[in-house]
Amino acid sequence: MSNTAHQRALLARFATDFAADETLAPPPLEAEIAEPEPRAAAIPDAVLDVDRQAQARHYARQQLWLGLAGLALSAILIGALLLSGLNFWLRDALGVVPAWQPFAGWLPLRVGAYFLALFIAAFIIGLPLSWYSGFILPHRNGISTQSPRGWLADEAKGLLLSLVFELLAVEGLYALLAASPRWWWLWAGAALLCVTALLANLAPVLLLPIFYKLTPLPDGEVKARALALADRAHLRVHGIYSINMSARTTAANAMVMGLGSTRRIVIGDTLLDRYTPNEIEVVVAHELGHQAHWDIPQLILTQSAIMLGGLAVVQLILGAALRAMPQYDGLADPATMPLIVATLGAFGLVTLPLANGFSRWVEHRADVYALETTGMTDAFISAMTRLADQNLAEAYPSPLIEFLLYNHPSIGRRLAFGHEWARRQARRVARAAS
Ligand SMILES: [Zn+2]
Repeated sequence: MSNTAHQRALLARFATDFAADETLAPPPLEAEIAEPEPRAAAIPDAVLDVDRQAQARHYARQQLWLGLAGLALSAILIGALLLSGLNFWLRDALGVVPAWQPFAGWLPLRVGAYFLALFIAAFIIGLPLSWYSGFILPHRNGISTQSPRGWLADEAKGLLLSLVFELLAVEGLYALLAASPRWWWLWAGAALLCVTALLANLAPVLLLPIFYKLTPLPDGEVKARALALADRAHLRVHGIYSINMSARTTAANAMVMGLGSTRRIVIGDTLLDRYTPNEIEVVVAHELGHQAHWDIPQLILTQSAIMLGGLAVVQLILGAALRAMPQYDGLADPATMPLIVATLGAFGLVTLPLANGFSRWVEHRADVYALETTGMTDAFISAMTRLADQNLAEAYPSPLIEFLLYNHPSIGRRLAFGHEWARRQARRVARAAS
């Protein structure tokens, strides 16, 4: 829902939203909208705009290639760092930094300096790509409303946040590597779970306001309907907020975020402005579905479990590297950092389809919930159709790309599900009448 990579990464961890994030999307496939049976009811405005979809396909392809270019660039840089021995050279060059050791083996100042060097290099090298994919392309396609200055301000804030969080994580990781060479990965996994839960709790009150303005939804039809829905489902809603997405984008979205006391439903002003009360209600019902199914805690647990697997693989790889290369000064040697980053990156890439598959399943379950609780199939279908065109989302991506990269079912699949639901509903009505 945001324009910068940092924000996206940040928000993706702590919220689960309604529409797919169009960060990495796919080359074209011929749209196949043929309906085997006539539709149960006439659905107004529920036809995808052919020109918008062609543009969406083009945009998706550009973003896919940019994503792949970014990935290749990272792989080349980190590969070069590892193969040239530059990782050891950097460690030796940072020998001027005091070797302060709070306990044996942990060198927080040198670890911090090593991390900063990598972080700054990665930022500078990645900046042109992130400017092009985060600012130029969205502007060219008319879905960004941000000024260059606003984009840079967001980028700077995101960068600063990442710097603080990642620095703390790296220091903690190297403290564990020094303190418990055998079991550090288990401790790190447990710590990660706790920190993620804490950040998920703080995200809507502490992190999101750094970028967006959240305003409690004023009394009115939308709020009344949302509260009635929650009431019928016996769900406690801690707040319904509007978020000023329009300051950055023309795209619409809604999400649930927060954990425990900060749990809330957040609706983009770009959705509130242009959608009918029925369409908004069905979107809110989808978000309530996430709440009813405990999706945020489940997503946090799944992500943490995957991360624990990654850390266990890091342990194996580091063990092998240390045995093979005497230049490494033990696990907590800052020179192991590029190898850790490379291993976690590769592991994340390999397990991405798994994480995305789980997310798509969770999203589909929320769609089912939305239709079960509201029965508003027409509103669901028209909202999906309008979202595809408004958000420049490719409705029918290649199934392979959807399998690999989509954290929501494609809009085409969600539309097909809506139509199938409508048919089932019509059959039920027909049976009841006969
Ligand atoms: Zn959702």
